[in-house]
Amino acid sequence: MSVESLIQIIHKHNPEAETDFDFLKKCYSFAENAHRKQMRKSGDPYFMHCVRTAEILAQLRLDMDTICAGLMHDVLEDTGVTRSKLEEKFGANIAHLVEGVTKIGRYKFSGGKRKRQADTYRKLLLATAEDMRVILIKLADRLHNMETLEHLTIEQQLRIAKETLEIYAPIAHRLGIWSIMSRLEDMSLKYLLPDVYREIADLLKEKLEERQTYCNKMEAVIHAELKKHGIIANVRGRTKHIYSIYQKMHLKGTPFKDICDLVGLRVIVEDDWHCYNALGVLHLRWGYLPDRLRDWIGQPKKNGYQSLHTTILDGGNPIEIQIRSKAMHQVAENGIAAHWSYKEGVPTTKKALSIFANYKEMLEEIQETQDVPGQFIESMKLELFQDEVYVFTPKGDIHALPAGSTAIDFAYKIHTDIGNTCCGAEVNNVLKPIREPLQNGDRVHILTNPKSSPSRSWIRFVKTANARSKIRHWFRDKDKADAIELGKTFLKAELQVSYLNANDFMKSPKLLDIAKQLRFENVEELYIQIGNGNASATQVVNQLKPEKGKIAEEEELPKRSESAIQLENGIDLGMVRAMKCCNPIPGDDIVGYLTRGRGVSVHRSGCVRLLDEPERFIDVNMCAEDGVTYPAQIYVECDDKPGMLGEITTAIARFHVNIRSGNFKSSDKTSIDDTANDHFTLEVTGVEQLKEVMDTIKGLNGVDRVVRKI
Ligand code: MN
Repeated sequence: MSVESLIQIIHKHNPEAETDFDFLKKCYSFAENAHRKQMRKSGDPYFMHCVRTAEILAQLRLDMDTICAGLMHDVLEDTGVTRSKLEEKFGANIAHLVEGVTKIGRYKFSGGKRKRQADTYRKLLLATAEDMRVILIKLADRLHNMETLEHLTIEQQLRIAKETLEIYAPIAHRLGIWSIMSRLEDMSLKYLLPDVYREIADLLKEKLEERQTYCNKMEAVIHAELKKHGIIANVRGRTKHIYSIYQKMHLKGTPFKDICDLVGLRVIVEDDWHCYNALGVLHLRWGYLPDRLRDWIGQPKKNGYQSLHTTILDGGNPIEIQIRSKAMHQVAENGIAAHWSYKEGVPTTKKALSIFANYKEMLEEIQETQDVPGQFIESMKLELFQDEVYVFTPKGDIHALPAGSTAIDFAYKIHTDIGNTCCGAEVNNVLKPIREPLQNGDRVHILTNPKSSPSRSWIRFVKTANARSKIRHWFRDKDKADAIELGKTFLKAELQVSYLNANDFMKSPKLLDIAKQLRFENVEELYIQIGNGNASATQVVNQLKPEKGKIAEEEELPKRSESAIQLENGIDLGMVRAMKCCNPIPGDDIVGYLTRGRGVSVHRSGCVRLLDEPERFIDVNMCAEDGVTYPAQIYVECDDKPGMLGEITTAIARFHVNIRSGNFKSSDKTSIDDTANDHFTLEVTGVEQLKEVMDTIKGLNGVDRVVRKI
């Protein structure tokens, strides 16, 4: 394509474009020259790809800088041209755009590794938040690459198609650029699932031919009906895109027949208010299915989409109709690009700014989940593809949330503090469980209590990345505070063992010196590391006693015990002790108790020795480990007969369980019944093994009762 035809295309799509195309011509010949020796896999000159990319950008009516950068988008990557040369010749603006596109291109999306995918994704998105035009150029570039994908190897086709479907199509969707999104999706499907694609395309074509006459008739009838009421409208049949049919068939299980028996028509009117008039005319004449009526004009979608959707009935034939104004149609097709300021190269209208703000907000929310492998892309997909529900605050402010969002999502959307202190929700004046999905139009009043705090289980049912990341954040902070508290406690205990005055020492500046000697940034960090078990309080105390410290250096530092007891947040500590009073074993319901100066003691919940001070309770885990056993006491009531005891001990031995001690009492001869009471202390790996042993003993002939002793 010559530069002249490109100029024609710019003019055709954008009458307000300037008439001086010197700059464009300069870019055109520069890029043409830079790529002159290169060929595409198709055998075409490489430069064709650049012109095609620029053409797509022109069709979106984007500004001259964007179109020029589109022409030159591959010169940094594929030719000897440097960034400084580009800047010198065409200015910083263009150089910046081309560099942005080049950077995105460098990150190759790997098929298997979730972590790398997430990384690519994040970088890509961050680049776009800087200058939206970078992603628009990249989308145009990708669209043309998809259009010419047939010339690559099968491996390349699959990789690029998958990347397109998982990354670029969702971004086009979020930016509302339907014209690009639908083409990217359809072409990806064509390469990823060629059979499915073919099947749907064929069925669609067949249906189309079958329905054409009926469609044409309805177009004319509706056009006439609207005209009768003074509404000039453009009525057109609407082609459905193959990927959306695929999704309905394969994800929702809707039969093809149900999707494609529906005739789809689009009514485009001059002005916004004509939309509702047209809707009224159609409903009066044909009637409609109330549950299919959607007003996306009164409440536009997050990506700016506006239309009325209704399904009218012509005889028994349902007809899906979208009604929108010309301006809305522009937005529906080209999304954020429809709000572009040609002069400034930025979105300027209020609507565009809100789409952009929305996009940025999503990036910020999602970026925070990057530390959880695999979470990132999932969150992204959810945010990008979900339908929305609209809910109200008690004051009547409206908020859009992804479908399936709960009161907790809503609470965090309003304010982080409201989320963190949420203790319940009134939905339409009725108290509702906070995990219940909200419905369109719900009025939600969040109940808060300053003493309330998030629960880890919330993470599992919230829908928005925003709520999820804020809950995680809260727990990170809390874990940190817990670790500091624990670190202080351990240090205090250790100081007391050495007969040092804990209170004085912990306030003295000496502690900071020691923290620094141990290579911690500050005292807080020292406490955290002691609390987390990465540093030991003994180490600190040794630093305090130089003479003793020397000896200690030669000796091995006291090893932390190989205890299998862990604090909930993964802390492993020598100072955690299972208490003899109740002999907790793995699998028991247990509670950690933060003692005053002696670390954490672990009891079975319900142990009588456990003091009633819930504020000192800490979540702990006991993990069963091979070869590690714990004492457990059981009591057996059985017939007092010869051989009974032998049978019981044999049963126990079958599980390779040691009997640490035993106490066996025959009933005395004066008693009426002849029952024996036997007490055993067994060494078991955990509750599971203990239960097996007890069940087996219970099954023995002559045994009446087997209980575990508290
Ligand atoms: Mn390219």
